[in-house]
Amino acid sequence: MAINRNHKNINFNQEEMAKSDQAEKIWQRILTKLQPNIEKKIFKAHFKPIRALEIKDSELLLEPHDSFEGWWVSSNYTEILGQYASEFAGRPLKVQFVGEGKEGDSPSVSKPQGKKSPSRSKAAATTQKRHNFNPDYTFSSFIVGDSNRMVHASATAASRDPGKAYNPLYIYGGVGLGKTHLLHAIGNHVIEHKDYQPKVTYLSCEKFINDFIEALKNNRLTRFRTRYRSSDVLLLDDVQFLSGKERTQEEFFHTFNALYDNRKQIVMTCDTPASEIKGLEKRLVSRFEWGMTSDLQPPDTETRLAILRKKAMSLKVKLPDEIYTLLADRICNNIRRLEGALTRVAAYSMLNKEQEITEASVTHLLQDVFLEEEEPVISIQAILKAVANHFDIRIAEMIHPGRKESIAFPRQIAMYLCRKLTNNTYVAIGEAFGGRKHGTVLHAERVVRNRIDTEDKVKKQVGSLEKQMFVKE
Ligand code: ADP
Ligand code: MG
Repeated sequence: MAINRNHKNINFNQEEMAKSDQAEKIWQRILTKLQPNIEKKIFKAHFKPIRALEIKDSELLLEPHDSFEGWWVSSNYTEILGQYASEFAGRPLKVQFVGEGKEGDSPSVSKPQGKKSPSRSKAAATTQKRHNFNPDYTFSSFIVGDSNRMVHASATAASRDPGKAYNPLYIYGGVGLGKTHLLHAIGNHVIEHKDYQPKVTYLSCEKFINDFIEALKNNRLTRFRTRYRSSDVLLLDDVQFLSGKERTQEEFFHTFNALYDNRKQIVMTCDTPASEIKGLEKRLVSRFEWGMTSDLQPPDTETRLAILRKKAMSLKVKLPDEIYTLLADRICNNIRRLEGALTRVAAYSMLNKEQEITEASVTHLLQDVFLEEEEPVISIQAILKAVANHFDIRIAEMIHPGRKESIAFPRQIAMYLCRKLTNNTYVAIGEAFGGRKHGTVLHAERVVRNRIDTEDKVKKQVGSLEKQMFVKE
């Protein structure tokens, strides 16, 4: 996503005024062309508020009213906006969003308007802060299937009864499976349904880390602490980024305790179970596991189809049934990628109204996406085979419970590669290596990493094995 922070506060001279006029004209023409093809609500929320700043070199610079719109449009429409911009400018133009931030950069702190609470004064209403939960990320827009039913249920429970049911709630799962969507859904639900005015804070873990470092540098720890410890609901996205950040972990430990002790709701997301975040203090691991842990699995075919159909409706496109089936069959592991593919097909069909959308044209259009999806899924078995071949030993020896010295290092390399190249947990890898403990795999990973850092020969050996795993047979 292209959001550039360096273009703010542009001082306009005459030449620049002309450029900005031209940018504005082009942008208005783009809007006119887009409007009939996009659902009214989406057009109003995401396109209308955008302002054209100027044309700089081969870029049309756009400024969203809100960082979220910029993020949303740029992640869904950059390509088609670029095509329209080029068409109206008569030369190739790309669009670039400029602004203060992107999704997750600024914590979304919200105090909702509340519901007809008689005690609510005018003053209270004016102190309310704007929230930027994504209005599209709600529970009702989240398609539920077997792969995410438990997570959905625990997230709705936490949002209905913050601080009571499932605290903390720890959600983990792969990229693009809906973790951020659910955090926003909780945020949206809490602020819409609570009569008291809860303070709901959403932020990415990276933001927490950066804020903490800034606070340390500028002697503003008290402010930092008040800010996060006064939340009624803290939604922290991607806690895997705490990995190895000792001081931030220490700080978060106290934030966590302060919130937890006051029965405030904490919801965290991560790409792995807490016990597998590398370099995370034990006391945090155990706290993350205190409440409810729920995992998101890749969606099954029906869920993928349902997601596609819902998204197509919001994009106002109608595609032949076999196209939805094609997309759902070919893109299985990442809903963001699935949605991106659909948006691309939708844009293509908008631009080529007279052409029929066929399986062949879509396959051609999405060549790169399908290729990405087809990247070989590397299995533990394939790694065992490659390592065994390389060291001229037998697979059986590697998974044998014995401790023969000559096998130990190849086995450690195989374990290291399994951690690096597959999504298996330490426990699963230990199991696959003859029922070894998860600590053994962890140790192997450390040993190999150290030797890669210090011994050139090992670095080359492991590097070549790793490359080999990506070669299709
Ligand atoms: P993650 O944070 O896990 O990487 P996101 O929450 O950003 O994933 O989801 C990626 C995209 O997929 C978002 O546009 C989201 O709305 C969509 N998505 C994920 N899961 C679902 C679902 N079950 N139903 C509808 N849309 C979904
Ligand atoms: Mg996310």
